[in-house]
Amino acid sequence: MSSPPHIVLPWVVRRTRLPLLSLRCVNCRSESATTGEGRFRVNANSKLLDVWLLVRCVACDRTRKLTVHERTPVSSFDPAELRGYRVNDPELVASWLLDPLLARRNRFTLDWTGAWRLDTPSAWLDAAWPVQVQVVFEDPVPVRPERLIAQGLGLSRNQVLRRVKCDITLRRSTSTGFTFTVMAGD
Ligand SMILES: [Zn+2]
Repeated sequence: MSSPPHIVLPWVVRRTRLPLLSLRCVNCRSESATTGEGRFRVNANSKLLDVWLLVRCVACDRTRKLTVHERTPVSSFDPAELRGYRVNDPELVASWLLDPLLARRNRFTLDWTGAWRLDTPSAWLDAAWPVQVQVVFEDPVPVRPERLIAQGLGLSRNQVLRRVKCDITLRRSTSTGFTFTVMAGD
């Protein structure tokens, strides 16, 4: 006898807006900054370019420059990238803001509170157990799997720990895709 095939349901974690930055303001000591509409500043010095991403304090509006490129030869830039900096391309703003390199270099962390959502298929109620769920991250939102699964299934965390089988540690934050299996309830 072969066991019935698993139903595999896709869950998607995606951003609803850009996250804020946890970054202390030198003016008012607030610890929250935003990219707002998203603006770069480019400064040319002979054949070298400096590029910054501008962010502002959410409390006092003071602008701060985050270093994207420092004294980099113009010739080493892809023309499309250069144009992106000059027109404040929103995709380029997002990709730099979400780049861990920029965060490390400028010493900030991302605050994802209220900036993302979990999309789950509505066919859930008709599913037969056990069900396999594949979680895909469209954006690198750090989530605790046990909380995400509890939210997605409408279960308590204790129920999640009892009914969910998963290869990764449910308590540790991740922003890498993973798969888990939900067993039938009691
Ligand atoms: Zn401030």
